[in-house]
Amino acid sequence: MSKAGYDVAIVGAGIVGAACADECARRGLRVVIVDQDSAGSGATAAGMGHIVVMDDSDAQFALTRYSQTLWQQLRSDLPDNVEYEECGTIWVAGDEEEMQEVWRKHEYYSTRNVRARVLDEPTLRNLEPNLREGLKGGLLVPEDAVLYPPCAAHFLLERAQRSGATFHVGRAVTRLGEGRVELSDGEQIPAEFVVNATGALAPGLTPGIEVKKRKGHLVITDRYKGFVRHQLVELGYLKSAHSVTTDSVAFNVQPRRTGQLLIGSSRQFGAEHNEVDHEILARMLKRAQEYMPALATVSALRAWTGFRAATPDKLPLIGPWSGDKSLLLATGHEGLGITTSLGTARILVDQITGAKPQIPIDPYLPSRRVHEHAHV
Ligand SMILES: Cc1cc2nc3c(=O)[nH]c(=O)nc-3n(C[C@H](O)[C@H](O)[C@H](O)COP(=O)(O)OP(=O)(O)OC[C@H]3O[C@@H](n4cnc5c(N)ncnc54)[C@H](O)[C@@H]3O)c2cc1C
Repeated sequence: MSKAGYDVAIVGAGIVGAACADECARRGLRVVIVDQDSAGSGATAAGMGHIVVMDDSDAQFALTRYSQTLWQQLRSDLPDNVEYEECGTIWVAGDEEEMQEVWRKHEYYSTRNVRARVLDEPTLRNLEPNLREGLKGGLLVPEDAVLYPPCAAHFLLERAQRSGATFHVGRAVTRLGEGRVELSDGEQIPAEFVVNATGALAPGLTPGIEVKKRKGHLVITDRYKGFVRHQLVELGYLKSAHSVTTDSVAFNVQPRRTGQLLIGSSRQFGAEHNEVDHEILARMLKRAQEYMPALATVSALRAWTGFRAATPDKLPLIGPWSGDKSLLLATGHEGLGITTSLGTARILVDQITGAKPQIPIDPYLPSRRVHEHAHV
């Protein structure tokens, strides 16, 4: 395709870059991928690994559903350590207003061929006995899954390498664009297309991108097999995820295959340091116990933080960046980059090869006009 060394050079080997490298290699492109650290060590190592269909907007639904289908197709190839489990999500309704949201979501999903079941209070308690009494009900979305993100990124990267991709680990990129990637030791890697897949750090290499860091905290517990059976998320989560002005916490608990529980979640703008913020952590755990009082008895092993790459309209940036024909972006996935990595890779490589994408891509193009949810 190119007279240059590679067809595609990808910067960033998180789950998004790894998926893009795999997709490029699978389609016969000569691809190199570079990371300043190890593969899957950024937000990918910090994420929860909930593969979830979301409906904040039709565009978000299209990309999450498309990607979920791609994960399902990949399922039988995934090694054991990826811990892919189709445990389903239960969106938990705490009051009548949230129950109305359950019915709206049910209608939205059902009319788009996503299986979903409304749960009344007794059924909810039967499925998840550790939830507190007095909740109103919930929505079960059985095809949602969980996986272990760093191992998923490693799997995609290793598969890409088996198909011919080159991986440079522990090498920082200082500049990219105009048909090349420049490393910190001055080495230049020429490529016809260059992809910025550096997550929340993307504006450092491509100034002007509307991506901001949105910090999150998670806690992992000891093993309590069967304590939680589905990914449980409070419907109030949607309100907190939409808030772009204030710090927020929400009840969000995931069962791991090991029997451990992953407890989240928090969202903060303007917090640049990666240390655990004990006030936020305390708020997050208090919120979790309000939904699941018995969590007060479990022992937490570790807490950590990570940075989501947030865009003003809550949709990723996938495609060409203006002013440089060689430069494409694959960033801005906020809290859904594990889910949408596979769809992102397909759409990105469709644009590189000129193939027809399977979903409309305009909502994700970096050139789109952003109207909603603007950063303040
Ligand atoms: C607390 C939390 C919970 C989450 N839960 C979920 C969830 O349940 N489901 C879901 O779908 N998503 C979730 N996410 C979001 C998800 O983790 C991210 O969207 C996803 O990991 C982004 O992947 P990425 O490859 O774009 O970025 P990253 O994983 O951050 O990878 C970027 C890579 O670029 C490299 N890099 C950066 N700068 C340079 C440079 N100059 N030179 C070379 N390399 C560079 C970094 O070393 C890094 O490896 C969560 C995120 C957080 C923080």
